[in-house]
Amino acid sequence: MGNRVIAILGNGIAGDQAAVAAKRTAPDARVIMLSKEPYPLYSACVLADYISGEIPRSTVFLRSVEDYAKAGVELLLSKNVVSWSPENRSLRFDNKELSYDQLILATGSRPFIPPIPGVKKDGVFALKTFADAEGLRTAKGRSAVVVGAGPVGMEAAFAFRRMGWSVAVVELMDRVLPRMLDAPLAGSVKKQFEGMGILVFLGERVEEISGGARVEAVRTNQRILPADVVVLVIGMRPRIELAGQGGLTLGPAGGIQTDAHMGAGLPGVWACGDCAESRDLISGANGLYMLWNNARLQGHTAGANAAGSGKRYPGSLNVTTVKLFDRAVASAGAPAADFPEGETRMLHRKSLDGELWLVLKEERLVGVQGLVNLDRLGGLTAMMLKGLNIRETILKGPKPSEGRDMWPLHTLEKDLIRLLNGR
Ligand SMILES: Cc1cc2nc3c(=O)[nH]c(=O)nc-3n(C[C@H](O)[C@H](O)[C@H](O)COP(=O)(O)OP(=O)(O)OC[C@H]3O[C@@H](n4cnc5c(N)ncnc54)[C@H](O)[C@@H]3O)c2cc1C
Repeated sequence: MGNRVIAILGNGIAGDQAAVAAKRTAPDARVIMLSKEPYPLYSACVLADYISGEIPRSTVFLRSVEDYAKAGVELLLSKNVVSWSPENRSLRFDNKELSYDQLILATGSRPFIPPIPGVKKDGVFALKTFADAEGLRTAKGRSAVVVGAGPVGMEAAFAFRRMGWSVAVVELMDRVLPRMLDAPLAGSVKKQFEGMGILVFLGERVEEISGGARVEAVRTNQRILPADVVVLVIGMRPRIELAGQGGLTLGPAGGIQTDAHMGAGLPGVWACGDCAESRDLISGANGLYMLWNNARLQGHTAGANAAGSGKRYPGSLNVTTVKLFDRAVASAGAPAADFPEGETRMLHRKSLDGELWLVLKEERLVGVQGLVNLDRLGGLTAMMLKGLNIRETILKGPKPSEGRDMWPLHTLEKDLIRLLNGR
């Protein structure tokens, strides 16, 4: 009998970590990782910096093909897996069949492309893969329109502005970074953007991308914006076609439902990364938390468990940072806008190095948003994770002089007490 086969579908960070953990846990197993993409692991998080020329190609790539060979992982690139048979425990690609004993689905996500007339024209891009970034880096022109003011859209706009292009951002919602920020901080960030010469149009709908074979302009419900390049960054959707084929259950947000061990509901089948739903550590809600670090830890858990370990996935953390200026816009937990009206209260603090908003539900911190030096968010995120009662923490906790590492909590104490007392 041959060695057991652990097959991993996808070589993003989730697949990569699954492969490494599986091989480490079961050195005798054959660990085979397949991907549609032609390259080994790279970081999507730095693609905007690659587009603007801030960093070279070599910095984007995190692994080489040789790294996998050294780790004993068989890497099959440029393989599009077209079908999955859970009954036969096999995957199909290139008219070949791969039989496995354990399967890890790490199929990630794809950009949502809205059904707007003109989206297929030359000069219209998404921003998800290294190939997208390469296309944007080498695009010719002087004006870019970014559709969507989420983190990826804002970073893309920033990159093009750095390259000296004229840039406009169009967003359907009433604020920038709407999943991260509430209106007040979003207003400050918008002003900073405008200060850099980036036009920001909120509450506008893109109705058409016009031109000949190439894009020439973007028509919204309010104006026409000239464009040599259009970047569509409206959001990501989990890639769940194969999971659906295999009859796996999907969760409320449309990703693969997983248990506390990243099991996907069939014996020997695991799911991790952007394609998988998980439990949020702060709110306890199941959903899609499509972030690098969540994918990394889920991959590690799924890989170890496929190889026979019994690891629990602790849960996902919704921490997003967008590097735009000398500081970063960062959020952890949820914005107040995610809660029913009147359920949360917000506290604002401006300091020399930035601006911070706390979202409080009853006496617990449920969200932090800042335009700050990043180190300062650490203590507050720890408070959210521990679900600490703020009043008790303030009244019973050690004094700042006793080394409490909870900045800026001690400087906020009086304000917090006042807020909790309804004054
Ligand atoms: C531009 C950009 C910037 C980002 N910035 C940040 C950031 O600053 N911080 C942060 O935390 N997160 C960021 N993210 C999100 C983060 O990159 C993702 O959460 C993470 O990369 C997901 O990894 P994954 O392995 O689950 O999926 P993916 O990276 O999507 O990888 C999935 C792989 O599976 C392959 N695949 C899928 N289906 C098949 C098939 N049928 N056959 C063969 N192969 C298949 C795909 O081709 C792909 O290679 C960013 C994302 C983008 C796009």
